[in-house]
Amino acid sequence: MSLSQSLHIGVVVDAFNGEPIIDLRRYDDREHLLLASFATHSRDSKGRIHPEKDHSYRGPYARDRDRILHSSAFRRLSGKMQVFTGEMGIYHRTRLTHTFEVASVARTISRALRLNEDLTEALALMHDIGHPPYGHCGEDVLHECLAGNGGFSHNQFALVIVQQLEKRYQAFDGLNLCRETLRGQDVRANKKAASVGRSAGLEIQVVDAADSIAYDAHDVDDALQLGLLSIDQLAGLSIIRRTLDAINQANGTVPKQQLRQLLVHELIDLQVSDLIQQSSQLLFPLEGRTSEDLSESGVRLKHSEVLEAERKELERFLFEAVYRHERLIPVREAAGNRLLILFEKLVSNPSRLPMRFRQRAEQFSPAIAVGEYLAGMTDNFCDRQYQQITSLASGPLADW
Ligand code: MG
Repeated sequence: MSLSQSLHIGVVVDAFNGEPIIDLRRYDDREHLLLASFATHSRDSKGRIHPEKDHSYRGPYARDRDRILHSSAFRRLSGKMQVFTGEMGIYHRTRLTHTFEVASVARTISRALRLNEDLTEALALMHDIGHPPYGHCGEDVLHECLAGNGGFSHNQFALVIVQQLEKRYQAFDGLNLCRETLRGQDVRANKKAASVGRSAGLEIQVVDAADSIAYDAHDVDDALQLGLLSIDQLAGLSIIRRTLDAINQANGTVPKQQLRQLLVHELIDLQVSDLIQQSSQLLFPLEGRTSEDLSESGVRLKHSEVLEAERKELERFLFEAVYRHERLIPVREAAGNRLLILFEKLVSNPSRLPMRFRQRAEQFSPAIAVGEYLAGMTDNFCDRQYQQITSLASGPLADW
């Protein structure tokens, strides 16, 4: 006689007492069956700073993902440039589309390695939420402006957003995310210290890898589309040659427009496949150990040596040929200058800050409050506040 029986798909009950042994409608049962031992399991979560009841069918990390997705800082990502500004067209990525691409790549890798997809997605959606307007130029300007206050880091600011600036609850500030989700972002903020010894949880490592795979590939795509680069120029790079060979073998000769799209697709596929293969070999013998064990042992996901060298070659090339392209430099300098003037004028006259940032200026310092106010802006919003502050208008500027 069988000791258990299936009532309907996904539910197995004890044949003696009728109690469910496995119920795939429950997220912890799904995780128990599907995830590797070294994934971050919801049942081991250390919970939230402000305790909350469990949800009946959404796991804690799925709730974190939704809180981030519904935050106002997340929506503002659509108005923040990645590399190229809005003046250069509408095809290229914004921080929002980049974030969705990272989440998609990260979930693919996470699923293949049997890690926690909900946590991976929450971390991916949060990873760029702290970026200031005007891309890396905006970050550089704010970092210099705040040099006397510890500088500015978008990864650190993401924590300020989700723990202090977002307003969702009456009783406390922030989104009250799980400790594991906050720790994942904290590791990003202190990444340099974590490059040796104890390693980050595997889900955050996957998001880091997906971030870098996604931006290299879409910067190639955007730069080709904007005419900053040609495929012939790129073909000197080993990773691109390999990718083009794979495309030719599978498709024969393809039209130029389609070649760009295939190139990006194959470039992502090549890197994701390499990472999954290398990571699977590394992780397979570690089944049975926990996420904490692997962090303690400093287990780090890596590409193969060949691909890592090729990626570095591609990144060096993109740095010179795209990020320092003559069409980008003047646009960036002008944007950085607007941010600098806004910072200086607001620090010297904090009464022009919106009310809640005036309060933060009193609580912390005018420089910190101004930095936070500017860092939360979209590119267009920042342009408008610049016009306002350099005009004859008076009174506080608008909140985001
Ligand atoms: Mg990113």
